[in-house]
Amino acid sequence: MRVSVIGAGVAGLTCALELSARGASVEVLERAPQPGPASCSWFAGGMLAPWCERESSPAVIAELGAEGLAWWREHFTGTVSKGTLVVAHARDTGELLQFARRTAHVESVAAEAIAALEPELAGRFSHGLYFSEEGHLDPRAALAALSARLAERGVPIRFGVNAAPRGAGAVLDCSGLAARTRLAGLRGVKGEMLVLHLPELQLNRPVRLLHPRMPLYVVPRGQGTFMVGATMIESDEATRISARSMLELLSAAYALHPAFGEAQIIEIGTGVRAAFPDNLPRLRHVGGSLHVNGLYRHGFLLAPALARRAAGVLLEGRNYPEVMDEDPGERRLA
Ligand SMILES: Cc1cc2nc3c(=O)[nH]c(=O)nc-3n(C[C@H](O)[C@H](O)[C@H](O)COP(=O)(O)OP(=O)(O)OC[C@H]3O[C@@H](n4cnc5c(N)ncnc54)[C@H](O)[C@@H]3O)c2cc1C
Repeated sequence: MRVSVIGAGVAGLTCALELSARGASVEVLERAPQPGPASCSWFAGGMLAPWCERESSPAVIAELGAEGLAWWREHFTGTVSKGTLVVAHARDTGELLQFARRTAHVESVAAEAIAALEPELAGRFSHGLYFSEEGHLDPRAALAALSARLAERGVPIRFGVNAAPRGAGAVLDCSGLAARTRLAGLRGVKGEMLVLHLPELQLNRPVRLLHPRMPLYVVPRGQGTFMVGATMIESDEATRISARSMLELLSAAYALHPAFGEAQIIEIGTGVRAAFPDNLPRLRHVGGSLHVNGLYRHGFLLAPALARRAAGVLLEGRNYPEVMDEDPGERRLA
């Protein structure tokens, strides 16, 4: 079978790899001239945190996410398996208790254990939560590795091609927010992030800082760089970061460790996550294409499990009720 995959974000690349591994003849079409900020994937934190995400999402996200986490460990050597640490200042202990109640695969940690996990945070937090089975990766390195793997398999990625939703063979549309004219209900949720450089500080794993108004996180990227994210704003405009968001992101980093006051800001980024009204991902047939979309704030976590299912639908005619739905427009017409 010939399949054109539209979009070279994490969804498009994982789908292309899965289809190619199962014997399909695949090409990837990407309208941007090169990998970069045209895709939401470029701005992700890279947290692979199925059990933390349970805090604000239903069980299916953790199930698909656990599958995704295992896939990354097998397919991307840059996947770091050091868990996630969640902390809160003493006045926000209630947030920590609520977070623990809503999540799974978690242990409570006190000051000593926090210091053992993250020596630089010694003495700063008396209570935390540790999700030892979670992981993280550098999204840009992961996208590059997926592209290299596709090249090895002879799958071309054609940059600078504004693909039409129909093609000669099957079309798998992974175009993210650009598909909102074809996918009823799809909306944008803007996320702002910073990359800071502070070689004096070392963190080993993503650290989430709970706060009633602005829960934020810091993800170590190696070589003294840290991604600080991310805001969640109901907007589909990838405009510049607002002053308020900048203040909140920097305050969170500073509240985690005052050394961040001396960090250099090396990048300010804004991506827009594509999401359906219930924030759950979908595989949906519309006008002859199969869409994989609505990955919301979990795109890296979920993409492998969705890619497997998309390949199952296209190549074996299978059905996956946990992620498939009908186009509401076609249902109305029927
Ligand atoms: C600040 C931030 C932090 C995040 N942190 C995390 C995290 O820690 N963990 C996690 O799992 N997820 C995270 N996410 C979510 C994740 O980034 C997204 O869910 C994911 O990137 C969506 O991937 P996608 O491939 O569906 O879309 P995209 O990455 O947007 O890719 C779609 C691609 O399609 C291309 N395209 C569009 N139209 C066409 C066309 N007509 N022809 C050809 N190409 C086209 C676009 O140029 C784009 O490259 C974060 C998101 C943000 C914004």
